[in-house]
Amino acid sequence: MSFIVAIDGPAGTGKGTVTEIISKKFKLLKIDTGATYRCVTLDMINKNIGIEDLDKIKDLLKNIKIEMKMVDKEQRVFLNNEDVTEKIRSEEVTKLVSQVSSIKEVRYSMVELQRKMAEGKDVIMEGRDIGTYVFPTADVKIYLDADLDERAKRRFLQYREKGINMSYVEILENIKKRDENDRSKEIGALKVAKDAEVIDSTTKSIKQVVREISAIIINKKEEIKQLKKIYKIRKETPWKKFVRCIVKAVLRTAYRIAFRVKISGAIPEEGAYIICCNHINYLDAAAIVLFNKRKVNFVAKEDLFMHRSLFWLGHLFDAIPIKRNMQDIEAMKRCLKVLKNGELLGIFPEGTRKGMEKNMKAKNGAAFMAIKGKVKVIPVGIHGIFKPFSKVYINYGKPLDLNGYTKENIDEATELIMSNIKELTK
Ligand code: C5P
Repeated sequence: MSFIVAIDGPAGTGKGTVTEIISKKFKLLKIDTGATYRCVTLDMINKNIGIEDLDKIKDLLKNIKIEMKMVDKEQRVFLNNEDVTEKIRSEEVTKLVSQVSSIKEVRYSMVELQRKMAEGKDVIMEGRDIGTYVFPTADVKIYLDADLDERAKRRFLQYREKGINMSYVEILENIKKRDENDRSKEIGALKVAKDAEVIDSTTKSIKQVVREISAIIINKKEEIKQLKKIYKIRKETPWKKFVRCIVKAVLRTAYRIAFRVKISGAIPEEGAYIICCNHINYLDAAAIVLFNKRKVNFVAKEDLFMHRSLFWLGHLFDAIPIKRNMQDIEAMKRCLKVLKNGELLGIFPEGTRKGMEKNMKAKNGAAFMAIKGKVKVIPVGIHGIFKPFSKVYINYGKPLDLNGYTKENIDEATELIMSNIKELTK
């Protein structure tokens, strides 16, 4: 799986310099998306194509060839086999590029190219809409910002160094215009992605910004490593079974010392079922797992596995990690496999603790799994205050047959499960 770092922000915030350093530091392929729009602009200028000449622009897009290649350890930009690295930074191109990049057809075509360039690679991509449009699921999203005056000053010094003759006022006006245009684009407008880290570089050195972004990347890589471990499926072995038996016996005894467990009803000794219970305390799932002869594969939010001991216990008891607030297809597949193997699957339809008390709408995952896996649901009502030596009641209900329910009336199936759970908590 590729690793994607998105660096967005207006002109003159240091995106280019920072991206260059980070790409070397973390061995990421650098993709400057602004350069792709600049290439289209230069090609239009070369071919004398006006901004309104949409048919000619479409033709140009069909035949354009934009490449980023390493030459003498330096990334160079090629347009139709010509090295245009310097030419695309000219005043003429800079003045026109924002308008060109607003043309829908240009955007679609360039975004497609940018995604292709990144395919299967670890990349750092800089632009305006990477975190919001090109790669909305990028691993790291940075929005670099800085005051307008500071940005114009930086650009002025940069241009002077390169021998580009543009006055400070001209640069300031150009940046202002580009900002306005970039922010009001119909597609891929410049804006902060919801989950982006905003870094204001006005008073910061490049070194400081690089340090901040590096720390974010290192954290993310660590998190991904951890998640890989969480999602790794540990096979059942005689040793794992043995350890589980011992751990279960020890924890059950500890649970009995802490609480007075009262159980009514039972789970059938064989066959696949989905056990659906209310969720009032972190210890309620433990009660169901520990006081059942059969193994119950509970679905648990992935964050729980971040704790060392819960990570170990989760794997020992084959808990299924799930990403919350999104459709986790992988988790669903694992759940269906459990059912296919004739095992027990444990789900809290409330999705969170005390969801019922808070009047939150129950999730349809359990009903969906029951319908798809063609298995019955066993409703369970748990109640108790979970204070030392208090009583914890676990009431198993009769298996519910959801045969006849479909995707269309899944809400009703969930309601049926929830009303049965409610009854059992009385
Ligand atoms: O980053 P750079 O200044 O080279 O970008 C040139 C122009 O290309 C920007 O002003 C913006 O209008 C456009 N652009 C864009 N989307 C991107 C990158 C650049 O619209 N992802």
